[in-house]
Amino acid sequence: MDRIYIKKLEFFAKHGVFPEENALGQKFVISAVLHTDIREAGKTDDLTKSIHYGEVSHMMKEYLESHTFSLLERAVETLAEKMLLEIPGLSKVELEIEKPWAPVGLHLETVSVAVSRQWHTAYIALGSNMGDRERYLKTALESIGKIKGCQVKKASSFLRTAPYGGVKQEDFLNGCAKVRTLLTPQELLAALQAIEKEAGRERKIHWGPRTLDLDIIFYDREIVDEENLQIPHPEMAKRDFVLIPLGEIAPYLRHPITQKTVKEMTDELTQHYVM
Ligand code: ADP
Ligand code: MG
Repeated sequence: MDRIYIKKLEFFAKHGVFPEENALGQKFVISAVLHTDIREAGKTDDLTKSIHYGEVSHMMKEYLESHTFSLLERAVETLAEKMLLEIPGLSKVELEIEKPWAPVGLHLETVSVAVSRQWHTAYIALGSNMGDRERYLKTALESIGKIKGCQVKKASSFLRTAPYGGVKQEDFLNGCAKVRTLLTPQELLAALQAIEKEAGRERKIHWGPRTLDLDIIFYDREIVDEENLQIPHPEMAKRDFVLIPLGEIAPYLRHPITQKTVKEMTDELTQHYVM
């Protein structure tokens, strides 16, 4: 990805854990790397096709001077989020804030805190087999779009499938969505679980009826293996109700471990049955 650099922009603000810092203020220095595609601007000489580094410099200075945070960590985190939400075409931002006069009682050149934040792409499988199933899936898509730092980019049509796991229950309605997100995988899982909870989902029987099930299938090409979260979803290649809707929106997406496309996984799974 192409980059635009803003180096060592000075500002005067009141961030710090000591009350004197919040009262008197001091000098800070910020540097930013803006990741964006500048190809069109390069071909057309049109500033509106790129990111205006002058406007971004003013935005950063104004934000950091009009807020007071104890921690530089908080300052860079909230500024990075604001920039990714508000600057069109910005896919990733690296920020470093230096505090050359940090009151540590020693001679040092500077201290600084740096972060790198970016938009991620996640694929989420949705399922419901209780009550007004279509309503649950539609509401879930709306709720996902309302999470701060989440945008639903694509949604599949809803597919009706027979229940899984041998428990007698109503048919399922399933779908898949492509989501652009600033959340980490764990934060996304927590946000999805809050939406499931709001839909009144109770976990009584494993694989039993549920108003709403939201699973993270992919998150970029990342592999996550934590106690409460595995990505890619370990069962995805065995589930036609995940693969078929996913194939509708991303047939050539590749599984980061097996390297198979969604279409290949679907063909392998469905060739065993008489549909
Ligand atoms: P399932 O989705 O397998 O039918 P549940 O929705 O009841 O079953 O999920 C049980 C647990 O699965 C959740 O508490 C969650 O922590 C865990 N889990 C592991 N990986 C994922 C993932 N990729 N997406 C969603 N939940 C996951
Ligand atoms: Mg689930």
